[in-house]
Amino acid sequence: MKKVVLVLLLIAIIPLNLSAWGDKGHKLITAHSLEFLKTKINLPDSIIKEIITRSVDPDNRKKQDPTEYPKHFIDIDFFPEYMSGQIVLNRDELKSRYPDSVLVKQGYLPWATLDTYEKLVDAFKSGEKEKIVLYLADLSHYVADGHQPMHATLNYNGQLTGQKGIHFRYEIEMVDAYLEEIIKGLVKFDIGTVEKKDLEYKIFDYLNESNTYVELVLSADKFASKNKDKYFELLWNRTKYVTIESINSAAKALADMINSAYIEAGNPELKF
Ligand SMILES: [Zn+2]
Repeated sequence: MKKVVLVLLLIAIIPLNLSAWGDKGHKLITAHSLEFLKTKINLPDSIIKEIITRSVDPDNRKKQDPTEYPKHFIDIDFFPEYMSGQIVLNRDELKSRYPDSVLVKQGYLPWATLDTYEKLVDAFKSGEKEKIVLYLADLSHYVADGHQPMHATLNYNGQLTGQKGIHFRYEIEMVDAYLEEIIKGLVKFDIGTVEKKDLEYKIFDYLNESNTYVELVLSADKFASKNKDKYFELLWNRTKYVTIESINSAAKALADMINSAYIEAGNPELKF
């Protein structure tokens, strides 16, 4: 597809007000993940700080670069393949079945994540600080987005069930209001690895998990909407377990993937 057509198409379909987890949520996931990772990879505190700050850059890039937008979600339940039990949607297979416009519209978070992982491996090999920071920040963003339930569904803003605005209410207003509770719920984890051949499955596996939480978020929204004065308290009470689980799971998945990229690059000695 010609680039200009793609750009026009993107501008036409993009609602510009959706991010994921908000700035605070993204930074929290990145910080929690890197806290354990820094003992495995020699990342000085100044670099960690920079990665945390820049973990929200991909959301900000959407304003300048229209090709950025679809990298933040996948409407996984749009695809009949997924709805009939196939968890991993292979990029080449989908490309042979659907036009580019469909894949752009429904989002390509899983493949943006895979591509960023590859770039991170190359960055570790090159030892270039700028690239390492850029792709660590980008990967942290896309992995975190993949753990936000409303980034893995066609009904991403409740627009199909008369619950418009749930995306923002859940990931930003609620998360920001209950950030301290979320921090209390963070758990220590062991850093593992993901084998290259399992990477695509790993990404789709957590997207699948996110999609299974969608119904819960939507039903909590319905429940909480009955009592407008206590809306966020009720929304939090009914989603806190999956929200904390998703955030812990994002931090662990991110650490495993960074660790794997570092090993794949040959455990380079990083000098900043
Ligand atoms: Zn995002």
